[in-house]
Amino acid sequence: DALSNKIAAGEVVERPAAIVKELVENALDANSTHIVVEIEEGGLTSIRIVDNGDGIDEDDVETAFYRHATSKIRTDRDLFQIGTLGFRGEALPSIASVAHVSLKTSTGVGPGTEIVLEGGVIKQKKAAKARKGTEITVTNLFYNTPARLKYLKTVHTEAGNVSDIINRLALAHPHVAFEYSHHGKEVLKTSGNGDIRQVIASIYGRNVAKKVKPIEGESLDYEISGFVALPELTRASRQYMSIFVNGRYIRNYALARAIQDGYHTLLPIGRYPLVVLSIKMDPKLIDVNVHPSKLEVRLSKEEELGQLITQSIKQIFESETL
Ligand code: ADP
Ligand code: MG
Repeated sequence: DALSNKIAAGEVVERPAAIVKELVENALDANSTHIVVEIEEGGLTSIRIVDNGDGIDEDDVETAFYRHATSKIRTDRDLFQIGTLGFRGEALPSIASVAHVSLKTSTGVGPGTEIVLEGGVIKQKKAAKARKGTEITVTNLFYNTPARLKYLKTVHTEAGNVSDIINRLALAHPHVAFEYSHHGKEVLKTSGNGDIRQVIASIYGRNVAKKVKPIEGESLDYEISGFVALPELTRASRQYMSIFVNGRYIRNYALARAIQDGYHTLLPIGRYPLVVLSIKMDPKLIDVNVHPSKLEVRLSKEEELGQLITQSIKQIFESETL
C-alpha cells in the first residue's frame, strides 16, 4: 500500500544517487549494453535513464510498480543464489511513491507502453511508440515528503554522489557503455568495449590509468581480477578502493583492510590506494539480503578471500622491485 511504499522509500531511496543506482541496476539486469543517465540539479528536479535492454511487456508494466513484484526471483531457493542486482521488488514502487514517474518501454515486439505515476498513483497508461528498451524519468523528487527534501545537501553534493555511483557501476560493468551528464554537460562516457583500464582513464585520467597494474588471483572459492595503482598513487580517502562481488559494488571493511595489507609498508599512514577489484564467487557464498541498499553483504570464508587479495597485491610489488 501507499504508506508502506513511502516507508520503504526512506530506506531504499534516501537520495538521488540511490535512485540512480537502483534504476541503472534495473537496466543492467535487463541486459542493456548502453545506458544513458541525465540529471538536473543533482537529480533533485530530474533523473532520466534510457537503456537498450529487454524492456517490459505491456502486461507487466503496472505490476512492476507493485511492492515485492520482482520478475527476478521465482522460488525460495533463488533467494540464496542471487545472480541479478535487484531482487526485492522494492525500488520502482518506492521511487514512484515519493516522486512523479514516467516510464516508456518496449520489448521490441508489438507497440511499446507508456505509464505515468504521481505519488505511486497511476495517472495514465497507454500504448506508445518506443525503441526497444526502457526510458524512465523521475521528477518532483520527495515533493510529498518535505522532511526528506530538507535533509538533502546541496546540488553540488548530490551530483557528486550520483557521479560516484555511476563511476562504480561503469567500473563494474566495462562491457556496458555509460553516458552520464549533469545539466546537459557530459561528466562520464565509457565505450563499453570491456577494457577496465579505459574506464579508469575516463574516470581518474590517463595518467592514473598508466600507473595501474593488473591483479589476478584464484583460490578454491574465489577468483579475483582488476587493477591496483602503484604505491605512489595514494589517496587520502578509502573511497578510491572499489570492490565488486559478482558485479555488485560492496563496502566491506575487512576486504579494504586486506588490500591495504597487500601494500604493507608501502602505504603512508592515512593514505589509501586506488584499486578496482572484481571478485567472482559462487552466489551461494554471499548473503546480499542484509540491508535494503544491498551495499553490505555477508561473505562466507572471508578470511580465505582476504588472504588471496593481500597475497596477490604483495606479489605485484615484489615482482616490481626485482
Ligand atoms: P527488482 O529489481 O528488485 O526486481 P524493481 O522495483 O527495481 O525490483 O523493478 C521491478 C521489476 O520491473 C523488475 O523485476 C523488472 O522486471 C522490471 N524492470 C524495472 N526496470 C526495468 C528496466 N530498465 N528494463 C526492464 N525491466 C525493468
Ligand atoms: Mg531493481
